[in-house]
Amino acid sequence: MKRVALFTHTACLEHDPGAGHPECPARLRAVMTALDHPDFVGLLREQAPEATFEQLTLVHPAAYVQAIFALSPPHGEAVALDADTYVCDGSIAAARRAAGGVIAGVDAVMDGWADAAFAAVRPPGHHAEPSQAMGFCLFASVAVAAQHARQRWDIKRVAVVDFDVHHGNGTQHIFANDPDLFYVSSHQFPCYPGTGKSSERGVANNVLNLPLAPGSGPAQFREAWEMIGLPALFAFQPELLLVSAGFDAHKADPLAQLRLETQDFGWITDRLMAVAETCCGGKIVSALEGGYDLNALAASAALHVRRLMEV
Ligand SMILES: [Zn+2]
Repeated sequence: MKRVALFTHTACLEHDPGAGHPECPARLRAVMTALDHPDFVGLLREQAPEATFEQLTLVHPAAYVQAIFALSPPHGEAVALDADTYVCDGSIAAARRAAGGVIAGVDAVMDGWADAAFAAVRPPGHHAEPSQAMGFCLFASVAVAAQHARQRWDIKRVAVVDFDVHHGNGTQHIFANDPDLFYVSSHQFPCYPGTGKSSERGVANNVLNLPLAPGSGPAQFREAWEMIGLPALFAFQPELLLVSAGFDAHKADPLAQLRLETQDFGWITDRLMAVAETCCGGKIVSALEGGYDLNALAASAALHVRRLMEV
């Protein structure tokens, strides 16, 4: 069995975007309840630390981080930053723990005390632009962790794989002009946020989008990864593989119209582990992004973690 570190924090349950919002605390509770199963007794369970100001400014301008830190919504109220993105008084600490959990996962894997890591955190991060909260996201947690890996651990080439049903516009924007960063995403298109065309390729073909038409299912998803996404990852030869693990491409998800089954998330996890084994000694750090049907989310995330634990 592989040593898999699990980073989470109860502060991530205190981000409440308001009644009826799909990105609700119950999502993380569902994932953590699934990970209470005896199959997961071998997880190395750790508290997600708060990302520091300095870490967040690896990606976000200081003025943006200061502005988010300075938000002080009244207790018990959710305040809108845009049409989808709300903050309450617990949101800033949650967002710092979310980014901090992914950063700590990178440190665990690079230091070598874990083979792989999963950050069970919220809010998600892949829609956050450098200077704009967006799509339920405040900080671009996975992109921050990628830059942290390069700065702290002296590696050059980091890849982010994003199988959330939505395109990670924030991660793409942050990565697009740096040839040593590679972003590859499968997502429903057209869909929110509207980016993610296959013609968006970055400065050195270091962005790869695999748009899937609404109604696409396991066959289309697997073909896109087998034929295009995975070969490109092998060719890029990352020194560390990060995963934006959203589970909203599941057929049960209410926010989009892809038709994946729970087992497809096990399949993509296996394939990504094969990339990591070949390219970077198996070093893979995954972070929870979307997934809005609680049962599908819990089952899919649990299968993802179970596969990370298997040799
Ligand atoms: Zn999503």
